[in-house]
Amino acid sequence: MVRRQVRRLGAVLVTLTAATAATLAVATPAHASHGGTAASGILNTTAWRVCISGWTDGQSASSYAITQINPTDVNASSVACTGSYNVSSYAASYPDSWYGLTSCPGGVSGGYCTYKTVQLNGRTATTTTQWRKTATHEFGHVAGLGHRSTNSSCMTSGAAPPIVTTFDSHDTDAINATY
Ligand SMILES: [Zn+2]
Repeated sequence: MVRRQVRRLGAVLVTLTAATAATLAVATPAHASHGGTAASGILNTTAWRVCISGWTDGQSASSYAITQINPTDVNASSVACTGSYNVSSYAASYPDSWYGLTSCPGGVSGGYCTYKTVQLNGRTATTTTQWRKTATHEFGHVAGLGHRSTNSSCMTSGAAPPIVTTFDSHDTDAINATY
């Protein structure tokens, strides 16, 4: 989940200082400190068949997220929502303060999930950058990634700048170590 946060300047500075410290603290191995795994588990296959639907801005962002996850060991493709799929990425306006939400409706078993849903909130994500960050971030959760404190990854939680729409090498290493 990406929580919407309205911070005053002082709080932002504290956040950035903490993020810098966390970045420096991350050494080797690259996947050792990812902030835990997603509560929704890890999608149980690298063959992601993604049904993309809902608001067009969200659909574009989901397509973008596919291009960001595919350089990893994951092989994601957009498929018709009338057929078989194991990821649903749906964009709408949700009456809450979050940007995106990834769930495992069937329940997590042994850390894995067979079907994941991604919800993108058009009520809070209003720019292309926010849409892309949210979609790519949630796709990271589909792969099992948890949150990070860094200025180089989309896996940060919150809206404090910089809003990064890409995975860094730490994220991709973690995904590839998972599968
Ligand atoms: Zn999140």
